[in-house]
Amino acid sequence: MTHAQLWQSALGELEILLSKPNFSTWFKETFIISNENERVIVGVPNAFTKTWLEKKYHTLVLKALRNVSQTTIKDVVYKVEVVDYTKQQPDFQKGHIPLALEEKDSLVQDTGHVSPVTGLNQKYTFSNFIVGKYCELATAACQAVVHKPGDGYNPLFIYGGVGLGKTHLLQAVGNELLMKNPKARVLFVTCEKFTNDYIQAVRSGRAKDLKDTYRSVDILLIDDIQFLSSKEGTQEEFFHTFNTLHHTNRQLVITSDRPPKAIPALENRLQSRLEWGMVADIISPDLETRIAILEAKCKEKEFDLSWEAINYIATIVHNNIRELEGALNRIIAYSQLQKTALGFEKIKQILSSVTAMNAKKTISPKQLIQLVADFYNITHDDIISESRKRELAVPRQITMYLMREETKCSFPTIGQVVGGRDHTTAIHAYNKIQKSFIEDNKIKQDIDLLRQRIYNI
Ligand code: ADP
Ligand code: MG
Repeated sequence: MTHAQLWQSALGELEILLSKPNFSTWFKETFIISNENERVIVGVPNAFTKTWLEKKYHTLVLKALRNVSQTTIKDVVYKVEVVDYTKQQPDFQKGHIPLALEEKDSLVQDTGHVSPVTGLNQKYTFSNFIVGKYCELATAACQAVVHKPGDGYNPLFIYGGVGLGKTHLLQAVGNELLMKNPKARVLFVTCEKFTNDYIQAVRSGRAKDLKDTYRSVDILLIDDIQFLSSKEGTQEEFFHTFNTLHHTNRQLVITSDRPPKAIPALENRLQSRLEWGMVADIISPDLETRIAILEAKCKEKEFDLSWEAINYIATIVHNNIRELEGALNRIIAYSQLQKTALGFEKIKQILSSVTAMNAKKTISPKQLIQLVADFYNITHDDIISESRKRELAVPRQITMYLMREETKCSFPTIGQVVGGRDHTTAIHAYNKIQKSFIEDNKIKQDIDLLRQRIYNI
């Protein structure tokens, strides 16, 4: 087993255990550097990821590696090392179909073309972004920004579930702006990178350099702001960066998996600033758009697929566009391996795991607890704990409410799985959340977002 095969298999295991946003955030751009003397060294893109893997996922990673490895593994350590995929190439054997979802393949390719100065990858443009009703507003707002940056929608805040094209749009804004004005100082960063840069700068006494970098741009594009940490002054730094840019009419475009109000660690003053300009959401694409996207991707990849097959894929893969692409990539990989065009029956067979995944709509009570915990940035144990602190009690009640609505568990069972409580507590929680819909808009909004995640599982 090569390092890449071992890691792909371990990722396959981890993917099942983690929520999609968590998985893609913490495991993209990771790889095995070495596997010697029963110790695996995993390369990670930044210190932020290293800390998270060490603190939160270490046991899972070790377990996953042990499950799939043919040799003994006693220990795993993480090391910050930016991937040099050109060196890794022989491991990604031709025709090898990764066990984990194909989306990682596209991430592998992506990292190769990113400009170190702007953080932009030229493959993301408006011309290869299919616009449907589901993302009309967000796309129009992005185009308006390109037309007149800093002028109208500032900041532009785009939110939506995973794999719905937020990063693509954000990158397209940067690329298009640079095309129009090659001198514009455009900077695209993920929130993780911003955080990481900040921590590193403070540690090495280069805080001023960091300020100079971030505050001197004309357009700042920040991806996945929901990960903005309240710790170590990162939020403070972001707040001042925001103010400096905004005061001087420089454009900010920000993405997130949820609206500003629903980001748990966000300070009020920052939350309200994020809402100053325009907030646009992206929802799941409808069938027609999914078909249009598949057609466009086939054309881009010069791959011939029958109408029947396209229609079939678009029907069974409905959560997001990344999965849609993943399904198509899987078919392309098979057909390249077999060196022939694939019949419809074969395509159905290849996608049978996808069909099974999507048919399995019910979420288990345990998964639900984890999903709510992830959403509020707390732990599974916090939810089932005795604590009456509001920041734990409300997520706990929401968990019980959703369990009743989405898993149809009985009240005694709900009480039992949520920390061994009495059924009357579960009933009380259910009624309380149902009532609070009327007066508390935030709870309703949170529940809508949580439901989207449940359906995306
Ligand atoms: P997000 O950032 O919302 O998780 P991405 O922007 O990474 O999602 O999109 C996932 C994949 O789907 C990317 O490869 C992207 O190019 C593709 N994609 C998303 N939306 C569209 C679209 N409307 N048209 C074409 N490709 C899309
Ligand atoms: Mg993204």
